[in-house]
Amino acid sequence: MTASDTRDDDKPAPIAYTRPSISDLEVEYATDAARNGWGPRCYDYIHRFEAGFAAHLGVGRAIATSSCTGAMHLGLAALGIGPGDEVILADTNWIATAAPIVHLGATPVFVDILPDTWCIDPALAEAAITPRTKAIIATHLYGSMCDMDALGEIGRKHGIAIIEDAAEAIGSAWGARRAGSMGTFGTFSFHGTKTVTTGEGGMFATSDTELAARVDQLANHGRDACEPRQFFPTVTGYKFKMANVQAAIGCAQVERIAELIAGKRRIMTRYQSLLGDLDGVTLNAEPEGTTNGYWMPTAVFAPDTGITRERLMDAFRAEAIDARVFFWPLSSLPMFEDDPATINAHDIPNRAINLPSYHDMSEGDQDRVASVIRKLRNRRR
Ligand SMILES: *Cc1c(COP(=O)(O)O)cnc(C)c1O
Repeated sequence: MTASDTRDDDKPAPIAYTRPSISDLEVEYATDAARNGWGPRCYDYIHRFEAGFAAHLGVGRAIATSSCTGAMHLGLAALGIGPGDEVILADTNWIATAAPIVHLGATPVFVDILPDTWCIDPALAEAAITPRTKAIIATHLYGSMCDMDALGEIGRKHGIAIIEDAAEAIGSAWGARRAGSMGTFGTFSFHGTKTVTTGEGGMFATSDTELAARVDQLANHGRDACEPRQFFPTVTGYKFKMANVQAAIGCAQVERIAELIAGKRRIMTRYQSLLGDLDGVTLNAEPEGTTNGYWMPTAVFAPDTGITRERLMDAFRAEAIDARVFFWPLSSLPMFEDDPATINAHDIPNRAINLPSYHDMSEGDQDRVASVIRKLRNRRR
């Protein structure tokens, strides 16, 4: 019996919203890195992690970073994005996607999401293009794929970069191509809540060798790989690198990546069978021809159910279940200018909730989560 099954008192055991899957392999590699991964071996796990992740994605280069935010910052900087430039992204996003744009002096331009995939609406993205637009960022929300055919076409037509924020999309694919492998570059997060984790960490992925070389240099304080002089940066760069000990954990996670993805998909499949018959409740979409890695199972309630985020949060809190709110529209945050025109991005979070999911979540815990939702729905009938 695990701690989450029962407790002595009447209080239900808490259910976390995510947690990593750490096996003996991660412990073994991390221990080896801590004991031996120094001096001439201080990059061994980093290089192995990068190579393993690039092979998983099917891209030319993967560069390990301190975070997904750092990977995005490096990529945007390597594309020369700066003051006066505009970058289009969905209003529904984590702040991590927008912050690097702001720090580089460029302007984030928020557009609405599609009602089913909760990803950027390609037609609205195209309509927002101006002579200052340098890129569109496609964030594969909660594992759902952005329309990469439509976005790729827009990118080619207007000569702008299509960037993939695949932080939430390990295990997701557009046809046979993995999320994060199709854009000018893709970024990934290995934060402790993500499908693959190193605690904190990220990855920059591209098949553009010149772009990869620029990111290598920027990530290493502007030091050019061909520069013969020591301590001689030639541009002002950044320090967004990953540590070897973290990469050791990442190497084990990459060896187990099929199992980690399968775990997340199994949890979602079970939620579908527990909740799929409920009227007025929509779960994450997986349109034909796409694969959803299902990082974050999410339930959206139809407006006529009257079920709100606040009621959902209260109901889950009462059962000691750590459910999370659907992302606020970034434009509604104090540092941006509110844009009520992003109708779906403003409306959906009011009646949606992220459900707990981790690779080895027990059936009993999933039943508890599902019963909170079923109770709320039945009360209305
Ligand atoms: C988690 C996340 C990030 C940020 O990842 P960090 O590694 O914490 O920087 C960026 N974008 C999205 C969509 C995310 O979910």
